[in-house]
Amino acid sequence: MANDSYIVFGSPIIGEEEIFAVTETLRTAWIGTGPRVAEFEEAIRLYSRARNAMALGSCTAALHLSMVVSGVERGDEVITTPLTFAATAAAIIHTGATPVFVDVERDSMNIDPDLIEFAITRDTRALLPVHFAGRPCNMDKIGEIARNHGDLLVIEDAAHALESEYKGRKVGSISPLTCFSFYATKNITTAEGGMVCTDRADLAEMIKIYGLHGLSADAWSRFSDKGYQHYEVVFPGFKYNMTDIQASLGLCQLSQIEIWMRRREEIWERYNDAFRDLPVVVPKDPEPDTVHSRHLYTLLLDVDEAGLSRDDFLAALNQRGIGTGVHYRSLHLHKYYRERFGYKPQDFPNANWISERTLSLPLSAKLTDEEVDRIIGAVTEILIR
Ligand SMILES: *Cc1c(COP(=O)(O)O)cnc(C)c1O
Repeated sequence: MANDSYIVFGSPIIGEEEIFAVTETLRTAWIGTGPRVAEFEEAIRLYSRARNAMALGSCTAALHLSMVVSGVERGDEVITTPLTFAATAAAIIHTGATPVFVDVERDSMNIDPDLIEFAITRDTRALLPVHFAGRPCNMDKIGEIARNHGDLLVIEDAAHALESEYKGRKVGSISPLTCFSFYATKNITTAEGGMVCTDRADLAEMIKIYGLHGLSADAWSRFSDKGYQHYEVVFPGFKYNMTDIQASLGLCQLSQIEIWMRRREEIWERYNDAFRDLPVVVPKDPEPDTVHSRHLYTLLLDVDEAGLSRDDFLAALNQRGIGTGVHYRSLHLHKYYRERFGYKPQDFPNANWISERTLSLPLSAKLTDEEVDRIIGAVTEILIR
């Protein structure tokens, strides 16, 4: 099969507008953190109906800084899901705190709110839910648990969920802190990038300062036409800023966000119709009164009925020129977590069960109808034998 017909998983749409915007930024000679970043922050703030939005270099940086400015530190525990990307738990560990996993629900694949209370101890400082694939977690229950336990901090990992809504509230406006990702495979991209939304002005100010070396005034105002201004180091901060090159890309992407989401919904419905009678479980419908951002289309393979393993299924798709993903092999199954915490697969039975069966098909708005047909044809051909 010719390489140019290979369907790359998670391929972004980069149009002439993006190329023009980035080259325009390069021509202005201000390529660092400047006016485009401020514009992008304001655009996301409005889109997410948030009080404050601060752009950063990644969602990983956003998660880490959110915890640092909230005072999460060594000796603390942060409750999260094991069915997530490595960065969610690593950001907790980077603060010195300990990630405490709570199993997921099999159908929503989100953290099971009914199990959270069993994991709360005297050391619990924060709850860190992940909106898996863009399906909003049960934020009413999570918020209630947080309030009932001395106002635990809630930080949302919304890397998949920029477009998502929960009971009329946009993700980004629900909890004290919400973190988004603009990594290359996400719904909109800045190549690398992230954003924190918060309703707390004090945390917003700290995130701005801590994210750029801990300087009292940021580089943007320091080198503006006001002339040289002295800065003061108020904290040994991080290098977590976003650049104007990235933000100019993000502004173009954001203007397409609803169109691309409708295209992913269309592909999602076509997949659901096509796979109904195959030995797979298609994603559960979105919960009432929510918007699911359709970041990932995951199938759960019925290994026994299909007569092949998930990995053999992935290999067969790859052979037919279709790139896939696995979201995720639960973190508790990985070497570091096995060795540090002594986890066994059955410690989180649902996350373990999903880990063995799940695969993600391409869902990018970039897919043509012909490519969607090819993917459906390949899945059907492999599973009907
Ligand atoms: C992509 C992702 C991240 C990390 O985002 P980056 O911007 O790459 O740092 C964190 N959590 C989840 C669930 C993700 O999918």
